[in-house]
Amino acid sequence: MLNNHQILQKMMRHAYGTVPFYQHLMDGDVVAESMEIDDLPIVDKECMVKSGDSMLSSRYIGKYIGKQLSWTRTSGSSGILHEIYWDDEDERKSLKSLWLLRKKYYGISPRQKLCYFFPSDIAVEKYMEKERVLAVSRSVLYDGSMEETYQKIKQFHPEWMILQPSIALLLCHLAEKYGIWNNLRYIEFTGEYLELPLRHRVEAVFGCRTANQYGTKEVNSIAYECPEGNMHVMSDNVYLETAGENVCVTSLRNYAMPFVRYQLDDRGKISRGVACACGRCGDILTLSAGRSDDFIKLADGGVMHAYALMQIVHSINYQYDGCIMQYQIIQADYDYFVFKLVLAEDDSEEEMKDILPQLIARGVDERMNEDCVTDVQFEEDIFPEERTGKCRIFRTEIA
Ligand SMILES: [Zn+2]
Repeated sequence: MLNNHQILQKMMRHAYGTVPFYQHLMDGDVVAESMEIDDLPIVDKECMVKSGDSMLSSRYIGKYIGKQLSWTRTSGSSGILHEIYWDDEDERKSLKSLWLLRKKYYGISPRQKLCYFFPSDIAVEKYMEKERVLAVSRSVLYDGSMEETYQKIKQFHPEWMILQPSIALLLCHLAEKYGIWNNLRYIEFTGEYLELPLRHRVEAVFGCRTANQYGTKEVNSIAYECPEGNMHVMSDNVYLETAGENVCVTSLRNYAMPFVRYQLDDRGKISRGVACACGRCGDILTLSAGRSDDFIKLADGGVMHAYALMQIVHSINYQYDGCIMQYQIIQADYDYFVFKLVLAEDDSEEEMKDILPQLIARGVDERMNEDCVTDVQFEEDIFPEERTGKCRIFRTEIA
């Protein structure tokens, strides 16, 4: 059995030896037998997308062509879209530690009934129900069927849920209106920064334990919270460091699409070798506060999650093969939205510039349920904000 340091060495050699994107970064140099991670460049999603080089290992091209790799699309808070591939066996290994800790800390195993929400561009169904899992499309957040969905979840009686904090908050409103079911034991937060007041509210309304899980589709779980409130780095699955203030991750498991010194949009600090009261000793991640203003403001004083508008871009990308590389949505007034888009540079770019304004305007009117003014602007780049260092996908200018 290799230790984590040896696995890291193996992954660096594999990435720089077999992945066109990393090979180009080496500029023709031969891959050394022993590499030091500090000598390798830090990369991010933007430079991967812009390089135009394949992120797939040449050793997995056969499985890729044979459609034997699992596939997903991710956007993240920077708004750049990316396709992620995993070999099934690697993905199982990648998730093993998380399952062990769920069991140890919270008594949760794959045997318990689970409810979670999935991005609506991966399937047209509103619900996908298997024996122990109810998966709900995030389309219910904006298509008016959230109340029906709550009843569906309540009837399903999940023992645990994996929720983005913003979705958990919507479920709290519904739980207060329609009541809760009695065998919910645990809620796992993921996908967004968790604000403490929101967490307290969810715990009070649902009367269950909660924990924070931080991860990405590219590498799966990066850190997981123990009952003492510490986010333990999943060191069997990732090698974690910081680049400036940003979190920078290397997957120890994804050989089909390796991520080495991959800088994420999130900011955080790592404390090394901490002995925690939960019994684990190792690295602990403290994430910095992110966005709390992901909500579209409505004229009647209400709010709607910005996902309603982000979804328009996701479904266009699903239909038109990832033509939008990066985007930003600005609410200039209650009925006035600006979409800034960076398009993939290819043969269909000009054609897409004709089609997109209409598609987006129609999408906005549908989602907002009224006639809105939509201004679509094509950009070369979308730069991060100075204050946060992030490219926020959505912001509202209504005070
Ligand atoms: Zn702990």
